[in-house]
Amino acid sequence: MADDHEDSVTSFDKLNLSPAVIKGLKAIGYETPSPIQAAIIPHVLEGRDVIGQAQTGTGKTAAFALPLLTTLEAKQKLPQVLVLAPTRELAIQVSEAFKTYASQLKGFQVLPIYGGQDYRAQLKALQRNPQVIVGTPGRVMDHMRRGTPDLSQLQCLVLDEADEMLRMGFIDDVEWVLEKTPDQRQIALFSATMPSVIRKIAEKHLTDPEHITMKVKTMTADTIDQRVWIVSGAHKLDALTRILEADDFDGIIIFVRTKNATLELTDKLLARGYNTAALNGDIQQKQREKTVSELKAGKVDILVATDVAARGLDVDRISHVINYDVPYDTEAYIHRIGRTGRAGRQGKAILFLAPRERRMLKNIETATRQKIHNLELPSSDMINNRRIDQFKQRITDTLDIEDLSFFKDIVEQYQKEKDLPPLVISAALARMAQGDTPLLVTHLPEFKSDSRSDRYDRKKESRRSRERGKGNHGAEEPEKGKHRFKIQVGHTHDVKPGNIVGAIANEAGLDSKDIGAIKIFDDFSYVDLPEEMPNEIFRKLKGAWVCGQKLGIEKVESSNPSVTRSRKKSAKEGNLERPSRKPRTRDQAKSRKKSKSTDKSKSRKSAPKSKSRKESDKS
Ligand code: AMP
Repeated sequence: MADDHEDSVTSFDKLNLSPAVIKGLKAIGYETPSPIQAAIIPHVLEGRDVIGQAQTGTGKTAAFALPLLTTLEAKQKLPQVLVLAPTRELAIQVSEAFKTYASQLKGFQVLPIYGGQDYRAQLKALQRNPQVIVGTPGRVMDHMRRGTPDLSQLQCLVLDEADEMLRMGFIDDVEWVLEKTPDQRQIALFSATMPSVIRKIAEKHLTDPEHITMKVKTMTADTIDQRVWIVSGAHKLDALTRILEADDFDGIIIFVRTKNATLELTDKLLARGYNTAALNGDIQQKQREKTVSELKAGKVDILVATDVAARGLDVDRISHVINYDVPYDTEAYIHRIGRTGRAGRQGKAILFLAPRERRMLKNIETATRQKIHNLELPSSDMINNRRIDQFKQRITDTLDIEDLSFFKDIVEQYQKEKDLPPLVISAALARMAQGDTPLLVTHLPEFKSDSRSDRYDRKKESRRSRERGKGNHGAEEPEKGKHRFKIQVGHTHDVKPGNIVGAIANEAGLDSKDIGAIKIFDDFSYVDLPEEMPNEIFRKLKGAWVCGQKLGIEKVESSNPSVTRSRKKSAKEGNLERPSRKPRTRDQAKSRKKSKSTDKSKSRKSAPKSKSRKESDKS
């Protein structure tokens, strides 16, 4: 199966990248170039036009960023690289990637420009002479029309996710930019698919391009149950620990992309009490061998590894392979999952995938000729049942193994003194044995794996990205009876849904059932709370803190007029919605009287009409 996997892994050192770039890569812990990087970097360095047929997750950003950073003239004060990207998210992401890779490059500046941002601020930033500009097509075109920036010294134009730009209706803008930039510039075009329009653009504007497509290898893995969990970065660790708690496992390999990630995740799992070890290319061969024998012997149960370090690993007891970070290509995936289901045993492979990386899922399904079903994350009930079973097992083990005569005497004495039923005494002892850590989890946020429809989700994602820029909440409307609130904590503050639920439930004494969907963004989050929030609760929430950050809660006005209209309509027709449940403090909940609230469903404020795509990108 995958063991004959002969890949031509090169090292970054052999790719003629500049010492500063190599140093930057060492700092972030990249071990080897991904296949698309190994294939594309030499051509970009040569100054050739390239077409890279690759989707998100393959490492395509570094495939163009690393060689372009190598050839960049740091002293040149005019932009040398222009990257066009379909969404503001991608523009920011690519710009951040450039910053990361250029950490050791003195005087390097990159600027993302996109619709929705203030023009004056952008003009000011452009005056700081960034060597690289990453922008959405509409906004870049607007700036070029106004004569800023001066692109006369442009060396390379990158079209990132060209098929997405086409799908989102940006292709005319892209062509305009292609025509208005100097003739001599190099062009790097990246696209997951090659629709005819993109092919035509390539034929018209690219000169003798090198076309790189990643080959797809196929296999079948009958003994491996494959699952996918569509997850956003911040939830990965939560999802992983839930799986570890609820699944029966023997040995596990967790694949991550960087050496640093092997160490970080190992530390986190060790802190949670799992026998875990890291395996990466920096670890001495001797130590690696020791770790593998410990895994075989059951002294280590979880290995957090990079692809390179786990190559050829043959350990029968691997019951699970978890693709914590997505593999670069189907070949790497096949190789990874081949570490389980060995020697005729059953194995389970779990793939964590960001919504943007969905296309990889399709490729993998084709390559493995198997449908990969969504993983059901274990619920609070499943985890609690398991914890109760384990608790009972501890009792059985103690009864089986220990000599209890000494404690029996004490309990007997106690029972006589207090004249209490044995069950009551046992319960008190169980409570003592459990200590201060609650046996059961009280609330686990619902993480629903997103819908798998690629087309639908990509659309939804780009719609969201546009809406976010307009100041809207950028997600579906809250459920009936709930309103959306914005809070000033996000991924950058390392906040998890549990922290938000905890803060809101505890600080405001709100019943956790009243806390609806939570969506975490970089600097802020949305949380759906009951529409009719008593002032007293709202005041308390305003003063609350989470992750060292003031909650700063504020109401988000509805952004979807159609929802408002349909709700009003159904109310008019006498088709009244289920009365919204008023939020209660825990105390209120306890003393709730029989009388039921007769809330009327409240109509929402209409939001301003949404702008067209072009307007939103250019506003
Ligand atoms: P991309 O396909 O460019 O969106 O990259 C996907 C992810 O892979 C990003 O998080 C990168 O940081 C990571 N990545 C790219 N190249 C490498 C590499 N050679 N080693 C480890 N991680 C990488």
